[in-house]
Amino acid sequence: MTSSDLATTVLWDVDGTLLDVRGAGRRAFAVALTRVWGDARALDGISFAGATDLGVLAQVLDTSQLDGARLRAFFDELVVALDAELRATPARPIAGALDVTRALTRAGVPQGLLTGNEERCAHLKLGSAGFERAWFCVGAFGHEHADRDELARLAAQRSPGRHVVVGDTPKDVQAARAIGAVAVAVCTGFAPRAALEAARPDHLLDDLGALVTLLC
Ligand SMILES: [Mg+2]
Repeated sequence: MTSSDLATTVLWDVDGTLLDVRGAGRRAFAVALTRVWGDARALDGISFAGATDLGVLAQVLDTSQLDGARLRAFFDELVVALDAELRATPARPIAGALDVTRALTRAGVPQGLLTGNEERCAHLKLGSAGFERAWFCVGAFGHEHADRDELARLAAQRSPGRHVVVGDTPKDVQAARAIGAVAVAVCTGFAPRAALEAARPDHLLDDLGALVTLLC
């Protein structure tokens, strides 16, 4: 990247890229499912890696036709359950993530969130790990669409210009491709390095340390 790319918006995945909630997301999901649908057994074996909250819910309930009132109730319960989980066991920032997001903020590089998390849940997790809400000026979230590529398109509409997508799974690389963004894959989260290599990102980094040089 060159200095002419300074106006590029950096779109961050959350789980496995900026932070690790140590299973709190799945536990909260199970609690909310049980509260609204009475059963969370269908969650067993479903992967959250690179997924969206709506996508997981559609898989669990085996339908994409979700009743709006129940959906709202589910997300309200999810927020309550996640808040309780994070109070008991705070999210941990991925090594270097606070430094790089702070450095980009200081450098005036716009940052946004491109995450499968419902919006309130994303901010709960980020706050728990020590990130400030003001560092992220735009976002697309997991309650808005089940498909991460569509979330990428929403994020791009909300931040016209060039984009860099940083994420820890092949689905993040694919979402970057959906909007013609530079794809940065980081080996900090859920996907094995070989799986990330196979997704052919523009940059594959072992950790977040090199990102400041790459993005500032
Ligand atoms: Mg992730």
